[in-house]
Amino acid sequence: MYRVVIDEKLCIGSSNCMEEAEEAYEVDERGIAVLVHPLASEEALLRGARACPVDAIALFDSSGRRVHP
Ligand code: SF4
Repeated sequence: MYRVVIDEKLCIGSSNCMEEAEEAYEVDERGIAVLVHPLASEEALLRGARACPVDAIALFDSSGRRVHP
């Protein structure tokens, strides 16, 4: 299971993550992405993270290794 860290200072609210992986991410009322389903599959978490144009979504594996970006 990936640990997800969304950098709210980097996020520009483009919604790409949500459009690519709505089962994992959502853009909230502030226009900032949030993780809506922490138990989403690693594939979905990665798919959404890769769609981010500013690399605001960082993923880490269970050993703490950075998986993305
Ligand atoms: S794709 Fe990136 S910049 Fe756009 S809402 Fe998601 S996290 Fe924010």
